[in-house]
Amino acid sequence: MSVVLFFIDGLGIGSRGIANPFDGLANSAPLAVFKNEAPSMLDGLDGVVVPTDACLGIEGRPQSASGQTTILTGVNAPALLGYHKQGFPNRALLEIIREHSLFLKLKNAGVAPITFANAYTKRFFADRPRWVSATTAAVEAAGLTFRTVDDLRNGRAVFQDFTNRILIEWGEDVPLRTAHEAAEVLAAIANQSEFTLYEYFITDKIGHAQDMEAARAVLQNLALLIRQMLAHVDLARTSVILTSDHGNIEDLSSHNHTLNEVPTMVWGANRDSIASRIKSLADITPAIVESLTEKATASG
Ligand SMILES: [Zn+2]
Repeated sequence: MSVVLFFIDGLGIGSRGIANPFDGLANSAPLAVFKNEAPSMLDGLDGVVVPTDACLGIEGRPQSASGQTTILTGVNAPALLGYHKQGFPNRALLEIIREHSLFLKLKNAGVAPITFANAYTKRFFADRPRWVSATTAAVEAAGLTFRTVDDLRNGRAVFQDFTNRILIEWGEDVPLRTAHEAAEVLAAIANQSEFTLYEYFITDKIGHAQDMEAARAVLQNLALLIRQMLAHVDLARTSVILTSDHGNIEDLSSHNHTLNEVPTMVWGANRDSIASRIKSLADITPAIVESLTEKATASG
């Protein structure tokens, strides 16, 4: 049994209307989910959508640092802090991550191999001091190594901008990748691992920029990446879980994050038992740990 966690920053379930880039957008399954509507994602993709609470009982707009910490630890980080924390985790969040990281929980339970599929640039390894994202801290908590741009060149990593366009703008000698090519690499990593995390941020950036044209282009390509990945992953033994930290891109009428629920989507093995456990972002880590360790018990 294995799990892929596909994290998308700033993707909520919005209402239809001119501010929602999904409305009327062709080829946007499975990502196009609308408030109070049965999802259209089931067009040939055998998944379920769980509308998931990202507000976590705390007033204000959900933010990335506390939301991602919650997803990656199972700890309700905004409740612990008393507020939603933007950007990068502060010391309190880093402490939560170092103690409760999903990667650490899996490692301690003997689940292996576990991996973060994203490529990091040389700048990440060289810059000191550096801002540490929730994900970086979660990976470091388990002592895992990071994939590099060299790994990416060798077909063993995917950049957060899976097309590589941003890497090329930064001067890296890498080829542009199609969604299909990136999906094959991601699926190959997933098929060799018991747990794989991939994360994607551009959706949140575009939401803040309120750029409808970019939103529609990026969402179609992202939907294609997900469809292709699902086609290349062995769903008989793999659960694919997609989720987000808060809404944003689904409502371009504002440059802020939204209060909308986020779509947690689940495909493949253990689909229904995983989906049935999830109500808020704090349920993602326990669902993954349970799914991967129950199997270990059953076969042991
Ligand atoms: Zn944001």
